[in-house]
Amino acid sequence: MATFDSKLSGVVGDKTAKVFHSLFGYTTVGDLLHHFPRRYLVRGELSDIKELKEGDEATILAKVHSVSARRFQARKGTMLEAVVTDGTEKLSLTFFNQAWREKDLKVGSQGLFAGKVGMFNGKKQLAHPDYEMIPDGNDVDSAVAGFANQYIPLYPSSAKLPSWKIAQSITLALTSLDDVEDPIPLYLLEKNNYPSIRQALVQIHQPNDLDATEIARERLTFDEALLLQLLLLKRKEVLRKLSAIARPHKPGSLLDSFDKDLPFQLTAGQVAVAAEIAADLAANHPMHRLLQGEVGSGKTVIALRAALTVIDNGGQVALLAPTEVLAAQHQRTFAKLLGELGDGGKLGSAEISTSVTLLTGSQNAATRKEALAAIKSGSAGLVVGTHALLGESVEFKELALVIVDEQHRFGVEQRDALKSKASITPHLLVMTATPIPRTVAMTVFGDLDVSTLKELPLGRQSITTHLVPVEEKPHFLERTWERVREEVSQGHQVYIVAPRISADISEDADFEFLTGENTSLTAVEELGPELQAGALNGLRIAPLHGRQSSEVKDETMKAFAAGEIDVLISTTVIEVGVDVANATLMVIMDADRFGVSQLHQLRGRVGRGTSPGLCLLVTKSLAESPSRLRLEAVASTTDGFELSRIDLEQRREGDVLGTSQSGSRSHLRLLRVLRDEALIEVARTEAQLIIENGISAHSLLEAALKKLELDTATEFIDKS
Ligand code: ADP
Ligand code: MG
Repeated sequence: MATFDSKLSGVVGDKTAKVFHSLFGYTTVGDLLHHFPRRYLVRGELSDIKELKEGDEATILAKVHSVSARRFQARKGTMLEAVVTDGTEKLSLTFFNQAWREKDLKVGSQGLFAGKVGMFNGKKQLAHPDYEMIPDGNDVDSAVAGFANQYIPLYPSSAKLPSWKIAQSITLALTSLDDVEDPIPLYLLEKNNYPSIRQALVQIHQPNDLDATEIARERLTFDEALLLQLLLLKRKEVLRKLSAIARPHKPGSLLDSFDKDLPFQLTAGQVAVAAEIAADLAANHPMHRLLQGEVGSGKTVIALRAALTVIDNGGQVALLAPTEVLAAQHQRTFAKLLGELGDGGKLGSAEISTSVTLLTGSQNAATRKEALAAIKSGSAGLVVGTHALLGESVEFKELALVIVDEQHRFGVEQRDALKSKASITPHLLVMTATPIPRTVAMTVFGDLDVSTLKELPLGRQSITTHLVPVEEKPHFLERTWERVREEVSQGHQVYIVAPRISADISEDADFEFLTGENTSLTAVEELGPELQAGALNGLRIAPLHGRQSSEVKDETMKAFAAGEIDVLISTTVIEVGVDVANATLMVIMDADRFGVSQLHQLRGRVGRGTSPGLCLLVTKSLAESPSRLRLEAVASTTDGFELSRIDLEQRREGDVLGTSQSGSRSHLRLLRVLRDEALIEVARTEAQLIIENGISAHSLLEAALKKLELDTATEFIDKS
């Protein structure tokens, strides 16, 4: 008899075990039993092709009539089309980029096919149907009848290992499985009316009742959620126990002088978040906090206050920014907000003061040398920089706080590289303007405490967003340029954003996930001269993109901030953080090329002053197309949380969780962070109770957690 830990080869034989290992990495019976069906075919509910209507969920028994594969001409990829017939009519099955299925779909062979009926060119079709081919040599009636149950499971499979073969192996494993002890404590199963682990596995692999199967699936999903939360909470506990130097608020300090001179009042949200951070900094353990805030909610001043608290205690602060434009702007903002408090070291500086130092990759040697010396001597209290801060030559006297702005651009590795420059674990504050739902935050940033800033400062202007669908309404584009002129004539400034620098260079790979040809995309270096010579003749126009030297970028941003440029034509280098209050209009070219959150970030650059902001999304996408619907969603709301949900829903799970979770991804077979939010919340609460009461009371659960920790250890070695 077998247990979950038994070798797979002992149950399914060496040959099959090898295939499972090469395809899915499985080695044990437990691994195999946690390979779950994607869906079920229902025997006895077969439809005739003739009777299918668009939108039907259908299962048919049919014979392959013909198969053809072809490459697309205009874009990458292949399309496989199989025509099947059930004697009443023909139906086309299509698969994109899955040419290997040609081996499955042999002409003359029969199978069960399931999917949603669609129409293409007036013909009925199933796109990416699930199917189960009937093994050669079986006559159909006995093959269909031969499936053990009324519901036939369809597994994630491949040509080498078809679904029926997987079902066979799983049946073997289930039959040979000894009594298994349940890793989930009995009280939790009873509380939720969940079946035992064995019942759940039998029910999900060999269902006789789909309602019971649904509960089995929920229980198995809960298993994953609970273990994941236990893992994250335990890691957090480890971090919490590390020592750090407490940096409490000092009366009569830089921070107090700063607060006294602040030209505005902090919002209630800012006050609350600032208090959370102050409490963290005053503790003997390192802060690990994520500050997520709506675009324009005022995170920068919060970061600066945290920095001053630390500087008041003799520590240094490093702020890591994703781009040179943003790093330079932060330095200017800090210098401006600090006034003479930031003139430390200069003749006649205030009695208590510090200095803000900039470090970026493209500074000249002399500037760099000076900056490095100031960082090393400790005279630079606040160091703002790009990833140049991570370089080996950068040494701090006493790095006490690391602030990471726009976290989504950095990986855990970079965060850790910076932290390792401190002799004792520094406090950590990461900030992001891409707000994410709570359960995603809990999972992706599981080791961080989360603070959220939702409200915008009083008097912040609204932003209106409209679409400019140039295919249907070409004259809207002319109207757009007129609008630009109007805005400028009222003394305001305008951003025009384009996806590419030149015809063949894009700014970053971010939008590449939206596939398609890109030769016809608007480019900064083409649009600029064109507008200058045409529609925007006479206006002061300047380009800005990542290929320019940092001097040029810096000069351009300074000139724009000073109102010496009317129209900035740029790539997404201005996506994050850029803050020019007089800019009121943003035109985004080929807006469908950008992600939802990215568009939200971009338009957050306007409406920052006393006049309302307007954002125009220029697009060639067609009405009703998915990209058009996405743009309409962006236009319909300015709630960043709602938009990030829309954004996340369109990404695959792996992209949602990011690479740092790739290790545990294989352990998340059923769990989906967005769909299973409620379940994750419950699991979080239960996991917290289990950890508080001591997990050792549940030895099997503890063992399962240890195993998961080992499996994911390589990804999660936290150098703190
Ligand atoms: P983000 O959270 O997007 O990084 P910023 O920190 O850049 O936002 O803040 C946006 C603008 O709002 C800045 O010009 C900042 O000085 C200003 N600001 C921040 N807090 C307040 C406040 N409480 N009242 C008025 N203006 C504020
Ligand atoms: Mg910011």
